Amino acid sequence: ASAVEIRKVNKFYGPFQALKDIDLSIPPGKVTCLIGPSGSGKSTLLRCINFLEPYESGKILIDGQMIGYDAPGKPMSGRRLRDMRRSIGMVFQQFNLWPHMTAQQNVAEGLIRVRGLRKPDAEERAAEALRKVGMADKMGNHPARLSGGQQQRVAIARAIAMEPRLMLFDEPTSALDPELVGEVLGVMKTLASEGMTMVVVTHEMGFAAHVADQVAFLEGGELVAVDTPSTILHHP
Ligand code: ADP
Ligand code: ADP
Repeated sequence: ASAVEIRKVNKFYGPFQALKDIDLSIPPGKVTCLIGPSGSGKSTLLRCINFLEPYESGKILIDGQMIGYDAPGKPMSGRRLRDMRRSIGMVFQQFNLWPHMTAQQNVAEGLIRVRGLRKPDAEERAAEALRKVGMADKMGNHPARLSGGQQQRVAIARAIAMEPRLMLFDEPTSALDPELVGEVLGVMKTLASEGMTMVVVTHEMGFAAHVADQVAFLEGGELVAVDTPSTILHHP
C-alpha cells in the first residue's frame, strides 16, 4: 500500500484552479520529488497532503486514511486532524525557529507541548535528534548564532524528534546561501537512506537526480509526468 494516495485532487484559490485532477501515489520508504516551474502548484500539493491547504474534491489518503474529511464533503474535527498530522513532519523554506530558545529547547518544545513528554525526557530526545543532524555541538546556541544551514538542520531535527511516518519538505534549501545547501541536502539524504518516506518540493536537480526514487513534474496545476529521475531529468 502507498504511504500517501492522492486521487483526483482539485484545489481552487477563489476562481483560480491551482491543482487539476492530481493522481499520485507516494510509496513508503522512498523519496518523491515534486518539481516544475514556479507557480505550477508544487507547494500547494505538498500542503494539501497534511491539509494545511484544504482541497475541494478528490481524496488524499495517509496510510489508507483520508485526511481532512471523514467522508467526501464531511470535514473531520480539528482534533482528529491534529491526531493525523502528528505522524507527518514538515520542513519549510523558512526555518520558523523560536528566537528566544536554544536549538535544544526549540526541538524539545514540541515534544513537551504536543507529545506531553516531561522536560528532561524531551531534552534527551531533542539532543538525540540534534546529534543525528550533526548539531550536537551547537545545541545550546540560539538561532541568531547559527548559520541558515544549521538553523534548517535544527528544523529538521524538530520534525524527526516527533518520529513521523512521513516527512514533507517545501523548498528546504531555497533560503540558504549556496555554500550551505549541501549540508542540508546531506542530512536529507541520510534520512532517505534510513527509509524515511519523503516528499520534497525542490529546485535542486542534483538532489532529485541522485536521491529521489520518483519524480513528479507539475505544470500549470497539472501533473504532467511521474517517473524515475533518470527518465524525467536525463541527468548525467
Ligand atoms: P509552486 O510551489 O509550484 O511555485 P504554488 O503551489 O505556490 O506553486 O502556487 C500555485 C499557484 O497558486 C500560483 O499561481 C500561485 O500564485 C497560486 N496561489 C498559491 N497560494 C495562493 C493563495 N493563498 N491565494 C491565491 N493564490 C495562490
Ligand atoms: P547538481 O549541480 O547537479 O545540482 P549538486 O552539486 O547539487 O549537483 O550535488 C548532487 C547531489 O549530491 C546533491 O543534490 C545532493 O544529493 C548530494 N550532495 C551535495 N552536497 C552534499 C553534501 N555536502 N553531503 C551529502 N550529499 C550532498
